[in-house]
Formats: sequence, C-alpha cells, structure tokens
Amino acid sequence: MTIRLNDGYRIVVAAGCSASGAYAAAELARYLKQITGGSFPVVKDDVPGQDCEILIGKTSRPGTPSGAGLKNDGYVLRTAGKKLFIFGENDRANLYGVYYLLEKYLGCGFYAHDVERVPVNEEACLPEIDEMRISPLEYRETYWYEPYRHEEFAIKRGFNGSWLKPYGSKVGGCVRVDALAHTMFQYVHPDEYFDEHPEYFSMVDGKRIRISTQLCLTNPDVLEITKRKLRQKIRENPDIRIFGISQMDWLNPCQCPACAKIDAEEGSHMGTMLRFLNALAEDIERDYPDVVIETLAYQYTRQVPKITRPHPNVLICFCTIENCFTHPLRRCTKVSPSLWQYFIPGTSVKQDLQEWGRICKRMFIWDYTTNYSFYLAPMINFHVLQDNINFFLENGATALFEQGNAESVSGEFGELRAYILSRLMWEPHGDVSAWMDEFLAGYYGEAAAKPIRAYIDYLADFVERFDIHAGIYDSPKNVIPKAVFPVLDQFWDAAEAAAANGEQLTRIRRSRLQLRFVKLLCKRHTDMDYQETADRFLDDVKKHGITHLREGRSFEEGVAQIGIGCPPVG
Ligand SMILES: [Zn+2]
Ligand SMILES: [Zn+2]
Repeated sequence: MTIRLNDGYRIVVAAGCSASGAYAAAELARYLKQITGGSFPVVKDDVPGQDCEILIGKTSRPGTPSGAGLKNDGYVLRTAGKKLFIFGENDRANLYGVYYLLEKYLGCGFYAHDVERVPVNEEACLPEIDEMRISPLEYRETYWYEPYRHEEFAIKRGFNGSWLKPYGSKVGGCVRVDALAHTMFQYVHPDEYFDEHPEYFSMVDGKRIRISTQLCLTNPDVLEITKRKLRQKIRENPDIRIFGISQMDWLNPCQCPACAKIDAEEGSHMGTMLRFLNALAEDIERDYPDVVIETLAYQYTRQVPKITRPHPNVLICFCTIENCFTHPLRRCTKVSPSLWQYFIPGTSVKQDLQEWGRICKRMFIWDYTTNYSFYLAPMINFHVLQDNINFFLENGATALFEQGNAESVSGEFGELRAYILSRLMWEPHGDVSAWMDEFLAGYYGEAAAKPIRAYIDYLADFVERFDIHAGIYDSPKNVIPKAVFPVLDQFWDAAEAAAANGEQLTRIRRSRLQLRFVKLLCKRHTDMDYQETADRFLDDVKKHGITHLREGRSFEEGVAQIGIGCPPVG
C-alpha cells in the first residue's frame, strides 16, 4: 500500500518522550510541511489512534517494532497498512531514522548546516518500507567543521561522536569519551611532580627529562596516582564510560632499565604501556566493569607487543598518521617524508593495523583527512576513503575518528569530505561516486558540479598515474606541479561560469582557494606581482571566513609559518 502524505497524517510520539523525541517529531513535521504544503500535527500516544499516523520511537500503538537486533544506534523504518513506524534503538537513532526517511524516500539532501535540498511535491508518497539500518561502527566521528560546529547537522549525517564538544540532549547526545589522546599529564603532570619525583618521568640517555617527557610506566607510584585520579574521574563523570590514557604528542618514551627491559622483551614500546594499562584496567574493572580505557597505538607505540595482550577493557586506538594518503593503505605503505623521523624500519602502518586487528575484539581507528600544515591544500584522497574504511573494518575496527579540520570553515572540500565520510560510516560499500555527484549538485549547483567533479577526478588520476605519494604535513608544492595549473584553472573557470546564483558562486570561489593557494606557494617571491597576488589572496581567504591556515595556529601565525608574503618562519 502506498502512503500519500497529504492525506491527513499526524505524527505520534510517546506521552513521556524526551526533548529529543519531541524534536524528532517537530523536525519531521517541519520538513513534511515544506515538501507537501500540508500540516502534520504532533500528538502523544495517549490520544486514540487513527489510520494515517507516523509513529516515532517507542509508543503504545500496536505494531511498534520490537527493536530486536538493533545496535550502534540502528533503526527500523516500517510501513504497516497506512501507518509508518520510525523506530530507533535510542533517541539519537529516532532522529537518524527521520532524516534517512527524508533523504532516501522523499528526495531531501543534507549537505551542510545551511545548504540542503527539500523538493516540493504536494503528491509525495511513500512506498511499502521494511528497512533496518545498522552502522558497522559503534562510534562515528569526523572532526570537520560542519558537523563539529553544528550538532543538528551532525545528527542529520548520522554521527554519534564528538569528544571535544559533546552534543546536547535535544539531538540525543553522543557517545561520551573523556579525552581521546595525549592525556597522561592529566594524571601525572611534571609541573606537579617532577621537582620531587623526577623518577616518575622518562629517562632519556641516562637522565630524567622534564621537557617533552613521558611517564615512567614501570614506576609503581605512577600507577597508583593514575588509579586514584582515574577513579575520581569515573565517579565525577557517570555519563562517560570511555577514558583515554595515552602518551603525550611527542617521542621520548622512558628508557630506564626497568622500562627498557620490558620493551626489549616485547619488541615495542607498547610493552610497558600495555602492562601499565592492563594493571589499571584490572583494578578499575572490580568496581566499574563497563569502563573502558582507551589508548593510542601511535608512532612509538604503534607496534603490537610480542607477549602482552590488551585487557578486554583496554581499547586500542590505532593511528594511521605516518602513511601516504594519496593511495589506499591496503596497497601503499610509503611513509610521509615529513614524518620520516617516526619511521621504524621493518614496520608499516598497514602491517601493524592488521596485527592489532588479529588480537583485538574492539578497535578504534584514528585516521587523518586533511593536511594539518596546509589546511588550504588540496587533499587528494576522495578515491582512497572508501577503501581505507573497508580496510579498517576488515581488520576489526568498531570505532572511527576521521580527523579533519574543524578549526575553520573550509577553503578546500571539507563539506564534501564530511558528507562522504558520514555516508561511508553507515554504508561502507555504497556508491561514493553517486554520493559525490549528488553533493556537488546540491552544494555548488547542477551545472557547476560537472567541472568540479572533473577537477577532483583529474587530481585523483594524476597522483595514481604518476605515483605521487603525500602525507598529512607535506607541502602541496611537492604534489601538484606548475604544469597542470592551467588545466586545473579551466575546471574552476567553468564552475564559476556555471554558478546559478551568488550563493553557489561564493561556495565555488571558497573551494577554489585551494588551487590559488598552491599557485601562490609555487610563485617566486621575487616576481613583480608577488606581493599584490599574496595580498589579494589573503584578503579573499579572510572574506570567506577562513580563520586558520594550519593546525593550532592563529591566522597570522599560519601566514608567517607558511611564508605567504615573506619566507617561512617557525
Ligand atoms: Zn621507566
Ligand atoms: Zn602512496
């Protein structure tokens, strides 16, 4: 039976539903009104039923799905006669169900918090539906600006993780993580302990160091202090069940005799780390069996130890940071030149990931999807994302953080990347090419989509054909040669000419900054028009609302360090 929405439908939620349940109903009513022109009153399930109803979540109406088999914020969309049930595993999942219905069955598109497509159709109908959707990932986060800054948009895209800026209860909250990375000083800080207890910190070349230090993980006091502080954090944060304890973001693991002995036996600095965390997990487990201690397998801890295995409550977060990103991890194990100092001979990101996959039941993956030294540089990885996510899943990934640039509006393709990643996290074997076309048409306009797609495909083909490898800190000067600038400019000229309105043109010009940026980097400072070109470029970058050019640096610092207008500093 087909459902014609303009037939006096109303939306039903449970009488005692949460704020998020009410929001889900209001959102559905709002969009259905925009689409059909009709009105869709929201009622509680203590009102007697009628035929034409859309029921969200757990209501008292007969026929409500049981939810059996749902996990990872999964949901069911099911028609029964004239009724439609949208039933999620939780509040967030009910919202996902609403937006998925609008996207898949009613032709809506959600591209950015302020760019969406809502088709108008007074006759809009739904076919018979019986669909259960479950993401293969229990944790889905991308640190891109749009979902990070706009939680209402993040929920439209099915994300459920935001460890730095948790979502509010209106959108059903998110999976809470205390802190994902580089947290050891939250437990034992050198400012607090080094003067009296230098032995708590790394011994490097025979001396305990205070600056750029790590913890001495075989010191029993360090374990006791960490236990005490972790227990306190657990007590104070009952809604958080994942606590990150991991190395600081530099090298210098402890080389004291006790640590060195274990790491030698284990063939990895992860040896001391894992024995330390296992002892912590065994202690915590007695009172908090559901608490998980997350740690990084990152740089010097990336390799699986020979002997020790993670306690079931220790969650490994494997980081792909060193690898080339212009080719899939499955077939390219080249290390980025700018991270060569972290290279461990005889290892690769791919091999280490596979080894962790063999011994972990749950695994977190931290992957990187922008250039952190050059936020404006083209990130030529659209042809890589799907294969990498499938490679992670094949090797046991259950949680995924696809780090992007959430510090600034994108002058590249940040919105597109967040969109593609969100869809892959639910449908890893989906049609990325079709998703990309849909996004480009929705975001830049039908006519401009073609040349922009041609630009993306050209660069993907270019790095494949000429076997160009690049890492996440490498200068785009080493990726895109001057000789191809004219052809790349043609794509953007065509896109600008095809813009149907001022908003599309602004988005096209903002994304085109990526090419202008590379061209400027390749320009000689002694060229007569250098200063004028640099000034105009920086002016436009600011006008487009871009606030950061590299990770963790102010705009001015970024300009100076990259060396726009003058030789690079710092
Ligand atoms: Zn030590
Ligand atoms: Zn490569």
